[in-house]
Formats: sequence, C-alpha cells, structure tokens
Amino acid sequence: MAFPVKDTATIGIEDGEVTVKGWIQEIRNLGGISFIVIRDRFGTLQVTAPKKKVDPALFEELTTLPRETVVSVSGEVKASNQTELGLELIPSALEVHSIAGSPLPLGVVDKVNVEFDTRLNSRFMDLRKPEVRAVFSLKSLLCELIAEAMRMHGFSEVHTPKVVASGAEGGATLFPVEYFGKKAYLAQSPQLYKQMLMSTGMDRVWEMAPAFRAEHSNTVRHVSEFISFDGEMAWIENQKDVMDVMEAVMQHTIAGMIERGGKHLETLGKEITLPKAPYPILTYSDCIERLQKAGMDIKDGDDLGTEGEKVIGDIMAAEGYDMYWIMEYPTVEKPFYIMEKEGTPYSHSFDLDYRGQEISSGGQREHRYDVLVSRLEEKGLDPASFSSYLDAFRYGMPPHGGWGIGVERLLVKMLDLGNIREAILFPRDMHRLSP
Ligand code: ATP
Ligand code: MG
Repeated sequence: MAFPVKDTATIGIEDGEVTVKGWIQEIRNLGGISFIVIRDRFGTLQVTAPKKKVDPALFEELTTLPRETVVSVSGEVKASNQTELGLELIPSALEVHSIAGSPLPLGVVDKVNVEFDTRLNSRFMDLRKPEVRAVFSLKSLLCELIAEAMRMHGFSEVHTPKVVASGAEGGATLFPVEYFGKKAYLAQSPQLYKQMLMSTGMDRVWEMAPAFRAEHSNTVRHVSEFISFDGEMAWIENQKDVMDVMEAVMQHTIAGMIERGGKHLETLGKEITLPKAPYPILTYSDCIERLQKAGMDIKDGDDLGTEGEKVIGDIMAAEGYDMYWIMEYPTVEKPFYIMEKEGTPYSHSFDLDYRGQEISSGGQREHRYDVLVSRLEEKGLDPASFSSYLDAFRYGMPPHGGWGIGVERLLVKMLDLGNIREAILFPRDMHRLSP
C-alpha cells in the first residue's frame, strides 16, 4: 500500500488514492453494497464497498470484521452527498492490524445508558467515544494555558518530591509509604517545598503535579489522586497580591479555553462562559451572615460546608458572578502555615469558589520562624518532624503567599461535568485502584 496516509480531518476529494487508519466502528451489509465506518482520532469516514466493484476476497474480509478491529484501508476518494465529509472511500486494499474480540465490554456508539462504574471498568473503551475524549483534549489545553499564563507572570515551573516525610494538610488524609525501612507518605500538596523555595531567591514558582489525599468520603468532588496547580510568590504586601495574579491567570486560561477549545467543546456539546471580573470579594463572616439570612443553621466558626458553599454560589450567581473570593476564614479551620490576622480569630486566607464550589485555597503564609513554630504546636504537630522545613525560615525568609487549585475541579465546573471522575482518565478513590 504505497498510497499517502490521510486522516479524517485532512482527507479531501483531490487526494485520489489514499490509506486511512483507524477502528471499524460499524458495518452495514445491504446485500449488493456494504458501508463500513472507520473512526480515527478526529472523526469518521465511510468506506463504501459495492459488491460488484470490489475484489471478492477483499469484500468478504472487510465486511465480516468484528467492530473495533484496527485496520488500514486503502482506496479511492470519491465525492458523496450521503456522508458528513461529503466523500467516501472505495476500497482496493485492506491491512488488518488487530482483530477486536467480541462481544465488546462496552459499546462505542450505542445509545445505551451505561453505569459510570461500567464505563470506568473498561475506560480504554469508554475513551474511544469522541465526547469522552474531548474532555481530555480540553484538559490538555487547560494545562497548556495555565503554563502560558504563569510564564507571562514571571513564574518558573518547579518539580517537588511526591514521596515525603511529613504531611502539610492534616494527618487524616495521608497515604503511608514504606520507604527503605522508614515511614514516608505520598505528598498531599507541594506546600512545604514551594515555601522553602521562597527563601532561596526563586521568587515566583509554580507546579502542576499529582497530589494524594486519603479521602474517606465518597463525593463527586473528592478523589484520592488529583492534579494540583500550585503557585507561590515572595515579597507580597498581603494576600491581595496573590489574588490579583491568580485572577489574571484564571481569566487568561478560561478565555483561552473559549478561544481555542471550540472544536472539542462542540464535540462535548458544552459552552464555556468567561466569569465576570473583577471577582467580588466576600469575607467568611459575610458568608455566615448571608447564610443565616437565607435560613441556614450556621454560626461563626463553622465550616461553610458543601451546602453553605452551594447557597453562596446561588446568591453570587443571582448577582451575575461565577467566580468569587471568600477571604479570612477562621484560623482554626486552616492549616498551620497560614498567617493569622493579628488580634482576631481569622486568617489571611482565601478560597476561590466557582459556581458554588471551592476550587482553590490560598493565602499569606506565616514567614516568622517563632510564630510558625507556635502555630505548629497549637495544631498539635511536633516541630521536630518539620525541622527541615523550619530551617528554611531560620535563616532569612521573605513574606510570601500562594495557592493550590484542583485542576479537575476547575475543569468540572467550567464544563459542568457533574462528577470529578469524568475529568480523570483513570480515577482513584476509596473503591477504585484499577484500571
Ligand atoms: P475540600 O474542603 O473541598 O475537601 P480542601 O480545603 O480540603 O478541599 P485544600 O487543601 O484547600 O482542599 O486543597 C486545595 C485545592 O485542591 C482544593 O480547593 C481543591 O480544588 C483541590 N482538592 C483538594 N482535595 C481534593 C480531592 N480530594 N480531590 C480533588 N481535588 C481536591
Ligand atoms: Mg481548601
């Protein structure tokens, strides 16, 4: 087969004789003529085989192959007003690369409602569906846009260890690892490392990497492995400096998704809207007040909770805002590294919420060594087990702050996907470790 190889995105009527490679999606045998639909990463192409015009052995083989078999089909491109591409392929040669078993564990085109668990069990098959794959094309674009925005703001990309000696976000969600006879953990976040870098002159760093949390709850927004997009910056006046960068990065990223994601959004049947900016700033106390007004049984000091976040989301949506900041959470609710707002029970922290759900937490960090040590003690943590982190604060640490964003949470909200697992190729949770 010496014909030029074409895919369904670039094939044209002027191509003459070509080879197309893909999966056999469907075969319709109508006696005198057979239609074979071949799918590649871009779309589908109809191969039209009139029995009388095609070599009998080729006709027999081509029209009896099991669905999802992987082939190269060569032939002549002809115009057709019956197909979406406006053309069809009249086959003259066939190469079978891999015959698919049957029955298939999961249909690719069947319009049957399949349980999500069944889809995840055969994820490789599920991902053959263009609308499922589109999510991951968009996720790839999202990561590209984030990288672009961070570069624009003068941040360097870094890579911190994922096997660590101590947790940063609370002991309950640590995964223990056996490490050459020592006890280690999978990193819950790059928090301690990105902060240590602030003492070095690497003033602006970012990372996009897996984070691991042994979440014991089964929700649509928690998984045990997710991609965390973290930023940390030194020499800030206050947390507003961090929020300004984040907001610019978010707007650049979402605008880019709208501008460059068109084809995939169409496949998915979704639209993205650019959040109205500047994002309004609420304080935690504002939120408590608003929730009480809305009739919720909640008091100062309580966690806003999933329900509280949702109600705030509805209130903000009514004012035309998809994204908004919630600042100054109670210090007791926050990790040890967040700076306290002096003389108050609140902290220099923020969450970024997107349509009723937290997608990010951040804030100004405590950079004063003595205060940091007492913060650890207040949280019941042993400063000795944080000694290598604390050392970075003993010999000169500039004021700094940063954030961590769950990439999948951001994508799920942007695309209204419902379940975070829709945005993860092979999700990990309490009940799933394979595939
Ligand atoms: P939540 O209260 O929603 O469980 P959190 O406050 O515990 O989240 P943080 O420690 O603030 O989470 O982590 C920063 C961000 O990382 C979160 O805003 C979220 O986007 C993401 N994230 C945290 N835990 C998970 C998880 N288990 N699965 C997916 N994303 C997560
Ligand atoms: Mg948080």
